[in-house]
This record gives sequence, C-alpha cells and structure tokens, in this order.
Amino acid sequence: MSQHLTKFTKEVDSWIESHCPHSMRTPMPVSEQVWASSNIYFPSKDAKVWFDAMVSKGWCTPEWPKEFGGGGLTFDESKILKQRLKFYGCRPAQINFGISMLGPVLLEFGTDEQKHEFLPQISRGEIWWCQGFSEPGAGSDLANISTTATLKGGQYMIEGSKIWTSEANKADWMYCLVRTNKTVKKQAGISFVLLDLNQPNIDIKPIQLLSGQSPFCQVFFDNVYACETHRIAPENDGWKVAKRLLQFERTMMADMESEGAIDVEPLKVFRDSKPGSSPGSKKLLAKIATHEMRNHMIEITMSRTAAESQNGFSPTGLTLKYLSTEETQNRWELNVSSLGMGGLEIVDRSSGVRKEVSKSFFYSKAYTIAGGSSEVQLNIISKNILGLTS
Ligand SMILES: Cc1cc2nc3c(=O)[nH]c(=O)nc-3n(C[C@H](O)[C@H](O)[C@H](O)COP(=O)(O)OP(=O)(O)OC[C@H]3O[C@@H](n4cnc5c(N)ncnc54)[C@H](O)[C@@H]3O)c2cc1C
Repeated sequence: MSQHLTKFTKEVDSWIESHCPHSMRTPMPVSEQVWASSNIYFPSKDAKVWFDAMVSKGWCTPEWPKEFGGGGLTFDESKILKQRLKFYGCRPAQINFGISMLGPVLLEFGTDEQKHEFLPQISRGEIWWCQGFSEPGAGSDLANISTTATLKGGQYMIEGSKIWTSEANKADWMYCLVRTNKTVKKQAGISFVLLDLNQPNIDIKPIQLLSGQSPFCQVFFDNVYACETHRIAPENDGWKVAKRLLQFERTMMADMESEGAIDVEPLKVFRDSKPGSSPGSKKLLAKIATHEMRNHMIEITMSRTAAESQNGFSPTGLTLKYLSTEETQNRWELNVSSLGMGGLEIVDRSSGVRKEVSKSFFYSKAYTIAGGSSEVQLNIISKNILGLTS
C-alpha cells in the first residue's frame, strides 16, 4: 500500500473512532434503518449523530465530487473507507436508492443543471426515490412499457400505471420510464423522467402480500406532469439510461445480500458448536463450508469487478447479481436447516413475535426476482459473455 493510502487509512480509523457512536457499530435491525426522505426519521439520537457526521464529511457518497455533496475521494480511498467502515461494523448512515442507483446515472447522463439540482439533495438524504419501471405488461420484457408521456409546453403529461413499485407510498419522487414514441422499435421510443409524486391525479395503492406487509404499490397516473428539464438524456434515448441504472441496481443487490440481516446466524452457531458426526450433521457442515467458500469467491469477484470497471465495462459484473442472490437464498436455506425442526416456525410460540430467520428465509425468495429474475440474468450472461444466440 502506498504511503498516502496508509496515512489515509489511519485518518479514517481515527475519524470513525471519534465520530461513530458505539451503538452505530452493531448489526442494524430493519426497524432501525434510516431511510432518506423529505420526512426523514431517526430511530435514535445516535442514528442522527452518525448520519450528520457522514453527510457533512460527504462520505455517504465518497466518490462523488465535493461540489455535489460527495467526499471527492479516489477509487482507492473510497475502497479503503468502505473496508474500514465494514471492519468497525458501522451501520449504513442512510438507505437511499438515490445514492446507489439514480445518482450514478445522473453523474453520467445528467446536465449540469440536473446534477446541481438533485445530487446534493440526494447526498444529504433529503429525497425518498422510488423506481417506476415495471408495469402490468412489462416486467422481464421491460421495453414493453406502455405508460405514455406527451410533451406539451415544456411539460410531459403522463398516463398509465406502474406496478411492484417498492415503497411508492412513502416516496417523494419517482424515476420513471415512459413511452414517448409508439411508432418505432420498442427500445427506441422510451424516455427516462424524474417525477414529483407530490401532485394531484396520482393514485398509489399498496399491494398486500400474504405476510400482511405491503412493501409494493401499484401507481396510477391520470394526466400527471413531469418537467421537460427533468428528462435525463435526449427524448427517446431513455433505454440506455435504464440499462445503466439496472447495472447499478444489480451491483447494489449483489453487494447488499452479502451482509448479515440478523445478529448471529444459526448456520454459524451450528458450524461452531462441534455438532457431532452423524451423517446429517456432516452433510450440513459440508454444505455450509461450500457456501462460505462461494460467498468468499463472490466477494473477491466483486472487488475485481469494481477495479476493472475503473477502466471501462467489466463483463464479470453481469454475473454478480445472479451468483450473489442465488447464494443468499442458499444461505437462508442453510440457516433454516441449522435450526432443525423449529427452523421454519414463523412465530415464536411463547412471545408471539415473528421470527427473523423464517421472515428472512421467505423474503430471500424475492431477491432472485427483483431487479431482473435469475432466468433473465442467465439469458444476459449467455448472450453477452458466452456469445450464444438468444
Ligand atoms: C421485492 C421486489 C421489489 C421490486 N421493486 C420494484 C420497483 O421498485 N420498481 C419496479 O419497477 N419494479 C420492481 N419489482 C419488479 C421486478 O423488477 C419484476 O418482478 C421482475 O423484473 C420480473 O418481472 P415480472 O414480475 O413481470 O415477471 P415476468 O417477466 O412475467 O416473468 C415471470 C417468469 O418468467 C420468467 N421469464 C420471463 N421472461 C423470460 C425469458 N425471456 N427467458 C426465461 N425466463 C423468462 C421469469 O424469470 C419469471 O420466472 C420488484 C420485484 C420484487 C420481487
């Protein structure tokens, strides 16, 4: 490591020591997440202290330029920062799709005005963004979207509906794919617009799941507007922005799932408990070992991909969403198996509280659908990496 990076590592360590409260160096339950929003909520005083420290340092967006609220760090510095935050077990200061998905495409495709308008607000966690891509007739075949936008006097008038829009009922703005030309090839008639959800004629209906939760919504637009100045990239050229954003989404998902969702995972307890030599125990231990090796391989590949992406497109990146989300599902299978007979119990019998392990097990089934299903990822790999015909 260069002298500069060694010095930077020491600076990061001492900054974390003095700015990250100890309670923010513990695993984060879902109920204590801080979601970026115009109506931001902090579950504790320490969560706000940590958020303020990270935002004022620009370290929620370490590689963004300082003029847009970023930390202005180089790739290597940012990598060290992420490693040290992970080493100390620091919680993410905020959860923000603007940072992981929209921001990077604004940096790449946005005008100067758009960057100045949105990036600092995103970095400061002031906007809850939702993603308006999927429609009832457009999921895997996303280019099939039919929500239309017609330009009238500097404003797009939007009609149609989006579905599976995560957290739309809490969001402030939506980044949205709309059809601006119906007479050309599907991909060539799509635009990418930013839409303020705080306006009339938008009906947001949460979709209730079997679990009783409603993390998704269907969103109906009846003559809703988006400013022409809030279109990213030229009209009808939104497909390339969408594809790029999906790359960022898939990288985020690949990364996110390598983190633990609960304090102590049953598979680790089982692994460390010298579980005996019955054929069942030996088989489970072997599966856990294989999983840990694969997880490690995915983490190394992720670092390699990040380094390769510095010099342009890294084809390896196309494999990560598939590999990582499938492995996450496997991990929750192993967690359930490690608990034995009670593994799939949904509610704790004595306390009546919903069990985190079974909740995470069931939720992990969504990872290989959200952000593009595994089957579609395999199609992408076969076409773009292996050169097979579709
Ligand atoms: C937890 C979660 C959060 C989500 N959040 C959002 C969000 O915020 N915004 C948003 O816009 N969307 C969101 N989605 C929607 C998600 O992007 C779609 O569910 C996904 O793209 C699949 O589309 P679909 O559900 O229409 O399934 P379909 O496209 O109808 O696919 C059905 C099945 O057919 C298979 N299939 C389809 N085409 C092919 C093919 N060519 N080859 C092989 N198999 C194929 C699929 O793999 C799948 O198994 C979310 C989904 C989930 C599960």
